[in-house]
Amino acid sequence: MPGSTSPESPFRPHVPPEQWNDWRWHMRKRITSLDKARQWIRLTPEEEKAVAGTAGKYRWSVTPYYASLMDPDDPTCPVRLQAVPSPAELAPHPGSEVDPVGDMLYRKTNRVVHKYRDRVILLVTEACPVYCRHCTRKFHTTDLDGTYFRDDEGGDYDEDLRYIAEHPEIRDVLLTGGDPLSYPDGRLEKIVSALRAIPSVEIVRIGSRFPVLLPQRITDELCAMLARYHPVWLNTHFNHPKEITEESAAAVDRLLRHGIPVGNQTVLLRGVNDDVATMRALMTGLLAIRVRPYYLYHCDNVTGVSHFMTSVEKGWEIMEGLQGHITGFGVPQYVLTTTLGKIPVAPPYFSHVPDGLLLRNHRGQEMVVDRRVHPITEADVP
Ligand SMILES: *Cc1c(COP(=O)(O)O)cnc(C)c1O
Ligand code: SF4
Repeated sequence: MPGSTSPESPFRPHVPPEQWNDWRWHMRKRITSLDKARQWIRLTPEEEKAVAGTAGKYRWSVTPYYASLMDPDDPTCPVRLQAVPSPAELAPHPGSEVDPVGDMLYRKTNRVVHKYRDRVILLVTEACPVYCRHCTRKFHTTDLDGTYFRDDEGGDYDEDLRYIAEHPEIRDVLLTGGDPLSYPDGRLEKIVSALRAIPSVEIVRIGSRFPVLLPQRITDELCAMLARYHPVWLNTHFNHPKEITEESAAAVDRLLRHGIPVGNQTVLLRGVNDDVATMRALMTGLLAIRVRPYYLYHCDNVTGVSHFMTSVEKGWEIMEGLQGHITGFGVPQYVLTTTLGKIPVAPPYFSHVPDGLLLRNHRGQEMVVDRRVHPITEADVP
């Protein structure tokens, strides 16, 4: 499988399987210094400078598992770009903001962000196993000065749970962070069971990148615990086919066997996955491990992340390269997250012309459908 950890790599320290398969070992052995990183990759002078330059400003941490997916010699490796700091993180960029999507405008309690009527996000933690350089919540997760919590994350959930219970229109609660699976099972169970005790909460969702960054965390015990609180859904965050490994496939399989559907949210990132061939391989690779592509996020102009942005036209080009070319449910929805919510960025497959509807397929072939075939009332026409 692409990206499977290769034991032959001169950069891969020998790790006995009992340790390699133990997620707590990876958490303890996370790479947080140049010395440790040098055991896995040949750092370039620019990377060394960026690690030194971002120290004291942005958190840096990489699990040995994720480090093993990096190309030791290629600084443009898509896994490496997501996990090793770049000098561009510190460069000012026009229009960048720490919270361009306005999460904090919609924060109702310490942890609850209520932006859509029927669903909320619950910010569980700031911690992640790897601090992705492109994180949308970089201020909250990765910035040492930042947090969206009022005090710290240690506080109780009383106020947050009360808010959810007192708003019975909330039928969907999404645990996010940071990465909620950073918490031990027992601590997580307290949160999930308290949500389950609220009758108006129909579904619990978890947003977690552990299946990609440290799939060993997805233990049978964790899955069995979550399965006691069904319906539970999980969305993860694969960005490149290299991240689809035997270990990540096995983690997904454990979730699915416990009845937890697994979806995927990809961020369109310059230099990482901004071409059609990579995205096709990613989406079809996800289908092969039974992960359902959900969103393709346009990269927001987040402070410290702007260098990953592409144009919207690039996103359209990729969507046109997917739509009709791969299995229909392998095509994610391309969205831009704004203060008004997630807005689909639709390519022009469908438009009004004087004779009716102009339709275009994935090969660029066009047809006009007569108004009498698909009637358009006056009120329907903008
Ligand atoms: C993305 C998001 C959700 C969930 O939206 P879906 O489109 O249902 O996945 C909920 N609340 C906030 C604040 C979000 O950003
Ligand atoms: S795991 Fe998710 S929340 Fe954590 S740093 Fe990566 S993108 Fe951000």
